[in-house]
Amino acid sequence: MRGFRYASMPMRVTFGAGVLASLPQEVSHLGLTRVLVLSTPEQRDLAEQVSNQLGQHSAGVHAEARMHVPIESARQARDAARAAGADGCVAVGGGSTMGLGKAIALESDLPIIAVPTTYAGSEMTSVWGLTIDGEKKTGRDTRVLPVSVLYDPELTRSLPVSLSVTSGFNAIAHAVEALYAPDRSPIISLMAEDGIRALLNALPRIAASGTDIDARADALYGAWLCGATLGATTMSLHHKLCHVLGGSFGLPHAETHTVLLPYVLAYNAGHAPEARAALRRATSSDAPATFLWDLSRELGAPHALSEIGLTENDIPRVVDLATTSAYANPRKVKPGAIRRIVTAAWRGDPPDQARQDELVERPGNEDQTRRRSARRPSTSRTHTRIHRP
Ligand code: NAD
Repeated sequence: MRGFRYASMPMRVTFGAGVLASLPQEVSHLGLTRVLVLSTPEQRDLAEQVSNQLGQHSAGVHAEARMHVPIESARQARDAARAAGADGCVAVGGGSTMGLGKAIALESDLPIIAVPTTYAGSEMTSVWGLTIDGEKKTGRDTRVLPVSVLYDPELTRSLPVSLSVTSGFNAIAHAVEALYAPDRSPIISLMAEDGIRALLNALPRIAASGTDIDARADALYGAWLCGATLGATTMSLHHKLCHVLGGSFGLPHAETHTVLLPYVLAYNAGHAPEARAALRRATSSDAPATFLWDLSRELGAPHALSEIGLTENDIPRVVDLATTSAYANPRKVKPGAIRRIVTAAWRGDPPDQARQDELVERPGNEDQTRRRSARRPSTSRTHTRIHRP
């Protein structure tokens, strides 16, 4: 057992179909009297419904959340909260709405009750993000960590299947990087492995029927665990690249995570033996990167960065931006490696090549490489089995 440090999060989590009905009690339990309900414009109806449910304890609805929290929308939301005399916020939605709640909390200390409706996991972290003059800035601050989270799978039934799949992969990406994070701990690794297993089990069922409440509950459970691992550890190359691709090239958040994850995992896996073992268990596959690549394609997710807005000419700039500052990663990151990863992901090549390069590069590993190549399953998922959690 390696040494570790673990700090548990000071928040309350309530999970279950229909738990949204307990929101008024939760507001009272926290001693709040007037909460502002936040959402995106697309989820205004849900926000209005929540506001009605809160009755006199609602300070109104502010349905102006936007992806990546532009500073202007953060300022507007802070003004709205102040004008409404709010003593707290209820953020109903995905990562964009959580982000707006966090932007308010960062300056005003207003506590957040989170009601997540995607699998992005922001509700479980003290990470905030703001886009200022076109550049996304992030930081950690305990003031932005929601005090209470209500996970109601009923609210995710309306999440379109395509976004459910990519949002699920977004969550899986948190757990993958938590498994090899420098500050991982045994409990976080358990949560990461089980979170991945739950999502892998649920996503094909959601793709088959987006209203399957059991599948929705399993996925949201997985998203909770994966989000908790994101909140507890330091992310590595994968999140760095997604941050660059989203923040500087405007690529869509969940789709970018989905496309890139198999390539970064293929690159890192040989340098993260504990993570690789956990992922082999969670995927019931010898080649987790290939497994994820196959599954995302099977579930209809985009599979190349070229499909979601990156041009080939952008690649050198991505490499520059991803190498300007140091960050954690189990394997040393050099510009050439980033170029290979991003180019393969841009084209949508199978992720195997990066993995093979990695194995061959390690001195004394040639025999192992040959053995593994010989028994690696083909890219067809008929060679893998997913166990129910
Ligand atoms: P999102 O919040 O932008 O939502 C995408 C769209 O789906 C929106 O139009 C939203 O209204 C809609 N939607 C959400 N839930 C729905 C539902 N159940 N039914 C129907 N429509 C629904 O997307 P996201 O992927 O959840 O969040 C992405 C953002 O979150 C990014 O800006 C990312 O940087 C941030 N994020 C932050 C953290 C963190 O820890 N700070 C973690 C993960 C993501």
